[in-house]
Amino acid sequence: MLPVEHPLDKQQYKLYDAQVAAFTGTPLHAALSTSECGRFNRAIFSRATLAGYWHGMSIPTLEIVTCLGEYAGTAYWFRSTREKTRIRLTSEGKLGWVIAHEAAHILLMAGRPENIALEMHGKEYVAVYLWAVGALFGKKWSNRLKGAFREVSIESACALKDD
Ligand SMILES: [Zn+2]
Repeated sequence: MLPVEHPLDKQQYKLYDAQVAAFTGTPLHAALSTSECGRFNRAIFSRATLAGYWHGMSIPTLEIVTCLGEYAGTAYWFRSTREKTRIRLTSEGKLGWVIAHEAAHILLMAGRPENIALEMHGKEYVAVYLWAVGALFGKKWSNRLKGAFREVSIESACALKDD
């Protein structure tokens, strides 16, 4: 079988920079305790279930790790089996918006075949991420993120005007 050719992740670094610009210095950038991370994780997937994004699968396991190796960033997610998904956070990644960012990746892939070719931080991802921030923290914060995305012309499947 040929490996899946994922489309180029064109917006990745632009989106990374825009989210840091949006949240640095705000309460969403404050370091959380492990139990607070767990509470945010459960809250976001419970809301996603209600909103129809997440269909009866179990809430992803949250793992806090001290070091992920030289190639890994502050956080990532992976599906260890079809039913089990994990979010890994380093100690620097224990932030509300980082959990929303990783949760949005899982929500985007929920119900899709594992080999689907999808731009990792493409316009569909952006729409789910904005939903996740709004659902977890409120419209004030999703509007702030939209503003940061507008400024650098991030492509989005939803309108980037304020709610
Ligand atoms: Zn990402």
